[in-house]
This record gives sequence, structure tokens and C-alpha cells, in this order.
Amino acid sequence: MDISIIVPLYNEAESLPKLYEWIARVMKENKFSYEVIFVNDGSTDDSWQVIEDLNKADDKHVHAISFRRNYGKSAALYCGFKAAKGDVVITMDADLQDSPDEIPELFKMIKEEGFDLVSGWKKKRYDNKFTKNIPSKLFNATARKVTGIKLHDMNCGLKAYRNEVVKNIEVFSEMHRYIPYLAKNAGFTKIGEKVVQHRKREFGTSKFGLNRFVNGYLDLMTLWFLNKFGKQPMHFFGLIGSLMFMLGFIAIIVVGAMKLYALYHGHHAMLVANNPYFHLSILSMVLGCMLFLAGFLGELIIRNSQSRNDYLIAKEI
Ligand code: UDP
Ligand code: MG
Repeated sequence: MDISIIVPLYNEAESLPKLYEWIARVMKENKFSYEVIFVNDGSTDDSWQVIEDLNKADDKHVHAISFRRNYGKSAALYCGFKAAKGDVVITMDADLQDSPDEIPELFKMIKEEGFDLVSGWKKKRYDNKFTKNIPSKLFNATARKVTGIKLHDMNCGLKAYRNEVVKNIEVFSEMHRYIPYLAKNAGFTKIGEKVVQHRKREFGTSKFGLNRFVNGYLDLMTLWFLNKFGKQPMHFFGLIGSLMFMLGFIAIIVVGAMKLYALYHGHHAMLVANNPYFHLSILSMVLGCMLFLAGFLGELIIRNSQSRNDYLIAKEI
């Protein structure tokens, strides 16, 4: 099969018939063999009935998964990825903001130009300027710095992947915003970008509020940490812990030495316990020990987890 199209959706009943009709038209025109996998993320409207009708009319191409409750876009993509059988996997939003007309070109970039992943770039965006477009520019600038991937629109819903890529990444919690980074960390480094048309939302409302930006930044930190120290937390906690402990230890020796020096020379010296540096030194040593322990605990957890040896093997002969 050429293409699997994965469509995560949450309360998008009005858009679905039009979306599917459009996809089917593009697929037919280009003679692709394809499947569409709708992932119903616990919709409370009649999205699922609409999908059932689509499936009745065309059960060769329409597949669907329905969650019992709303788990979020990442979970929907994760399950879609597991089910995808096509050589090229396309993800797109259900709200008609992404255009199926882009699919043939994306397909070509994966198949012929050898990209692992191609991300859409909504260069001209039809969203609210203040709640989305401007914050999104800032968000992408940070993401570029932290991830080292030069994409203008990392969180674009319209993306294309080589099948192997989606089978080897795990999109969890809200990490759908950083799939290119997940792919890069898994060793799929040929990541491209294509300017795509963007359209106004025709039906319903956006499913993400402004908290997307707060969560987005926190998730970026998590991914950065996991990538750098996920397999060796001691290298992070141990280093900071040791530094803090040493700092406190040296400081406390200085405090003690100054007291002895003053006593020896008969100068007036305050009680060590009244010296603020004494308390700061102790605090630093205690914190250092705690960080060190956190490192050990992290290592213990990893030793006992299944994921410690999940090396991705590209080829074997
Ligand atoms: N979506 C989802 N689960 C959620 C939230 C959103 O599957 O919990 C889907 C939604 O139905 C749409 C896509 O993710 O197909 C993108 O959502 P939306 O259009 O609301 O995001 P925006 O375009 O505002 O960034
Ligand atoms: Mg949208």
C-alpha cells in the first residue's frame, strides 16, 4: 500500500464527510493505493456515527479506531501510527485546515527525495494573530534552538513520514508538538519542510487553548532532558550534586578555619552557629547529597525498566 492517512479527531463531525470526499478524490486522481485511519479521540458529538457511515460506503479504504474517552492528540497519533500499513504515512488534522491536495507532493518527497520526515509549514496562516500566530513564532524559535532542527512550523498537523519512522517513535503525553525531534533522537535525521496551504477552520472550534504554550515549553525541556540524560541521569544529578557538595564542604572548612584563626590570635569571633555562611554551606551540602541520591534513584529505575536496551537497528546482514 502506498499511503496511510491518519486523521486524529475530537468532535469534528461536520468536517469529516467533506474531508474524506476530498482525500478520496486526490487519491483517485493520483492512482494511489491508500487507507484512511480515523482516530476518534473520545468525541462527544456524532463523529463516530459519521465515520461508521463513511466506512459502510467504502470499507476498503476507511478504517477507524475509537477511544473510550479523550486522551489527546498524541495518543490518537500513537495508535494511528501503530495501525498504519502504507509505505508513506501522512497525518492531517480533521478540521479541513490542512489541504489533501498537498499529499502527492509530500509523497514524492518521501519516496523519491529520500526524506524520513517532511513537515508542513503554514507560511500564510489563517488563525488568530494574537493567540496563535505570534506566540507560535516564538515557540518555533525556541524549539529550533533547543532541538537543532531548522523547521519553521514544528507543530504543523500535516506531515509525511516513511513508515519505518512512525513504527520507531513513541508519541506520548503531549509530545505530538515535537515529533520531528522524537524522530531526530531516534536517528531519523533527514527531515524536510514543505510550504503548505492553510485554510480557515470551517466548523467547530480549536481544541487547544493558550495553555498549549506553557505546556509546550515544559514538554520541550522534558524532551531535551530525556534525550541528553534519559539513559544516564547520574551524569546530570551526580555532577550538580557533587559540585554543590564540594562548594558547601569547602565553604564550611573556610568558616571553621576563620574561627580557629580568630581564636588563635585572640580576636573577637562570632559563634559558628551565628555565621550565615555556616548555614548556607550546610544547605549546599545537604542539597548536593539529595541531588546525588536522585541520580542513583534514576539509575536504579532505568536498570529495572524494559526500555534500557531499546536500540534501533537500521540494518543487519
Ligand atoms: N484533536 C484530537 N484530540 C484532542 C484535541 C484535538 O484528536 O484532544 C484533533 C482535532 O480534532 C484536530 C487536530 O487534533 O483534528 C488539531 O486540533 P485543532 O484544530 O483544534 O488545533 P489547532 O488547529 O487549533 O492548532
Ligand atoms: Mg485546526
